[in-house]
Amino acid sequence: MAATPSSRMTVIVAGAGIVGSACAYFLGQAGAQVHLLDASAPAAEASGAADGAVSVASKRPGPLMTAALSGIALYRELEESGPLSGLFHRRSTFIVAASEDEQKVLETHATALADAGVVITAIAGDDIPRRFPALSRAASLIIEVQGEGHAIGYQVVHRLIAASGATVHRSTPVTRLVPDRSGTRLAGVETPAGFLGADAVVLATGNGSSALLGLADVLTPRKGQLLITERDPALNAAMPGSIMSGRYLLSKGSQKTASAAPAPAGPARGFGLVIDPLRTGQFLIGGTREDHGNKQETDLSAVSRILADAVALVPDLARLRLLRSFAGARAAVRDGLPLVGRLPGLSNAVVATGFEGDGICLGPVMGRAVARLLLDKEPGLDLAPFAPNRFQSSGDAA
Ligand SMILES: Cc1cc2nc3c(=O)[nH]c(=O)nc-3n(C[C@H](O)[C@H](O)[C@H](O)COP(=O)(O)OP(=O)(O)OC[C@H]3O[C@@H](n4cnc5c(N)ncnc54)[C@H](O)[C@@H]3O)c2cc1C
Repeated sequence: MAATPSSRMTVIVAGAGIVGSACAYFLGQAGAQVHLLDASAPAAEASGAADGAVSVASKRPGPLMTAALSGIALYRELEESGPLSGLFHRRSTFIVAASEDEQKVLETHATALADAGVVITAIAGDDIPRRFPALSRAASLIIEVQGEGHAIGYQVVHRLIAASGATVHRSTPVTRLVPDRSGTRLAGVETPAGFLGADAVVLATGNGSSALLGLADVLTPRKGQLLITERDPALNAAMPGSIMSGRYLLSKGSQKTASAAPAPAGPARGFGLVIDPLRTGQFLIGGTREDHGNKQETDLSAVSRILADAVALVPDLARLRLLRSFAGARAAVRDGLPLVGRLPGLSNAVVATGFEGDGICLGPVMGRAVARLLLDKEPGLDLAPFAPNRFQSSGDAA
């Protein structure tokens, strides 16, 4: 039997990142009583350490691209109707190729974007220095992806929680899921403060989902290092949107590499360049993809490499001081798609995790889909490709 599809239901949402907060918001709007539990605090993990591209530009073709388009549309709606007013800034993303390899990848990706209905424009030849005097002469092709935007993750989280009416429990990790006597539903969850019961439970616990659900073989923490420069209003104004290198598509796995170069030895560490002109006049520059979760440190070799790549593409950045570097850990599923849906065998429990580098864009739309699932409504998004049980046949726990 499904969870009671009542607007008066009590729901535990574990994880106050952008996905859990969005879920709490949409459940609250439907009249549900929500307990939002976080092991630490709202936006303490990936949602507070992200860039903030609300963007389809780098999405892998297929269900992620489709979901991202719904995600952007929902940001626009929430911006216009109030909850995210002033937090979502519309702009284009410009994907830049500066080598033959990058150009091939970009051309393939541009076709996939156009096929998905995304409005794109190619900029080449003399139009590049005319429209982007700040870009290096190495830039040979730019694809402008229109209709995108930027939002700062922790601001979205705090706004959604404030509007949700949820009771927030900080420093309250869920330590165990507690089934009821039938074994087909959860009665609630165990926390260090004791048992908490509910009609339904949502796990939006990011990398914390591994321990709760036994997903260590499926979910990997993927560290990213990001940099923030000082302000340069003139240079900032000369960049009409986010600049993404063609190599970023490779680093993220949105497209396969054109050359069959062997993978480097040692732990995986990818570099993909994004230069984001922030509204403050600063630049946010990233970043790495490293398959571990130690987000406490940034390192000089990564910071130097990111800066060198950025200056190669936008030479005037060389005159700016670096203000700070920081890191966060994305939750990456091994097939590159998130895990969203009912937990197998538990009709009133839903998981939503594994959004890797896409969760700021997808958070609100996935939170709404999960809330609708619990309320027995159409999720508004095809969740079949994200089914949590898709790894079960290989012996994994989800
Ligand atoms: C460097 C970097 C750059 C990024 N840039 C972008 C970008 O430009 N665009 C984009 O769309 N996405 C980006 N992302 C990805 C995005 O930040 C994440 O996909 C998104 O924040 C995931 O949200 P979440 O709510 O699933 O997880 P999280 O934000 O990680 O939240 C999970 C929460 O669960 C809590 N928790 C964990 N275990 C438990 C437990 N047992 N009980 C209770 N609570 C628990 C944690 O404390 C945490 O607050 C970036 C990420 C990084 C690291």
